[in-house]
Amino acid sequence: MKYDKFLGFGLALALMCPSLPGISFAAETGKSQTIVRCGEQPSVQGSEKFFTGRARITPLYPAANGMRSSGGSVTFEPGARSNWHVHPVGQVLIVTDGVGRTQEWGGPVREIRAGDVIICPAGVKHWHGASPATAMTHISVCEENEPGRVVDWMEAVTDEQYAGK
Ligand code: MN
Repeated sequence: MKYDKFLGFGLALALMCPSLPGISFAAETGKSQTIVRCGEQPSVQGSEKFFTGRARITPLYPAANGMRSSGGSVTFEPGARSNWHVHPVGQVLIVTDGVGRTQEWGGPVREIRAGDVIICPAGVKHWHGASPATAMTHISVCEENEPGRVVDWMEAVTDEQYAGK
């Protein structure tokens, strides 16, 4: 049996990667623990519709069995960043490697480093990505406000915005 809610996870990823084929986890549901094995889910390239530069997304876990959060790991190559976006129920970013940048609309560009945790409230327009010279990896945890919907994408971050000008 497969998680049918994993389809929602696939949809969430599809928002980042529209070319991504349907995702399903071959994991059991029910009252016992699930171990999602490293390597079960292929990494995918972030769509240029939603990212500038190269971003690699590795699914970690879907919203399923009544849990509304899902998680994924994203690695941004130097200079790469997301588009501006909002999360309808907010987002937690845990930086696991490297040095990156994030910015709220109207605020300064702020450096983020491995070990930092960024808590973004619902509806706050922002972006995140690598620093110009160093890659950055973060784990992203988002909750859904409806099945599969964890992010609303907006315009690209310009080079001037990325540079903090
Ligand atoms: Mn975000």
